Amino acid sequence: MYATGDWSMTQLHRELTARGLTTRATPRRASKPIRLSSLQRILTNPYYKGDITYHGVTYRGQYTPIVPVEVWAQVQTVLGMHTTAADASQIHDHYLKCSVFCGQCGHRLLITHARNKYGKIYPYVVCAGRQRNRDSCSRQAMPISRVEQLVEDHYRHVQITPGVRQAVSGMILAEFDRLINDRSDELARLTGNRDRLHHEQTKLMEAHYADAVPLELLRSE
Ligand SMILES: [Zn+2]
Repeated sequence: MYATGDWSMTQLHRELTARGLTTRATPRRASKPIRLSSLQRILTNPYYKGDITYHGVTYRGQYTPIVPVEVWAQVQTVLGMHTTAADASQIHDHYLKCSVFCGQCGHRLLITHARNKYGKIYPYVVCAGRQRNRDSCSRQAMPISRVEQLVEDHYRHVQITPGVRQAVSGMILAEFDRLINDRSDELARLTGNRDRLHHEQTKLMEAHYADAVPLELLRSE
């Protein structure tokens, strides 16, 4: 069914569950509907086309393949196409991503892209709580531009309290003090060096004029 390309993994999973596909019951666990991830593993497992993989090496199994090799290969192609499509539709980078929450239920607001009947794609914001369970929250999807506007309006009215203002200005002034102190330490060190060198030079010149140091030695200093 999946090889036809007409089914998404989720649709196939739903259909198979409806048709009664379950895991095998073990003495410890009752059989239950197969999980989506297990279905994914089954579709990609080379065992079904008659290959056995052992320590990363694939061998031809000594049994009749469960599905023909061509069908298995076709399934991998379809999987590849669906994965690429899913990846492409999941890149929704936006500055509001992960930072806005639903005012009704408190869940994160997700950014999705909806396509209108002309094929144009619009970014929408939907509540993650509602997406998981439609009855838990009644917030409708909103165009992202509307949310951006609301966020801007909100920040226009945000005022920092005198306490916060004082704390922030204290931090900034302390940082300036630290920078100025570093500078003046460095300046004092350099000034000290300069004075010491100047003093030595004077001493040497005095010694030279007193004929205590020959000119050659003074040159080499
Ligand atoms: Zn909500």
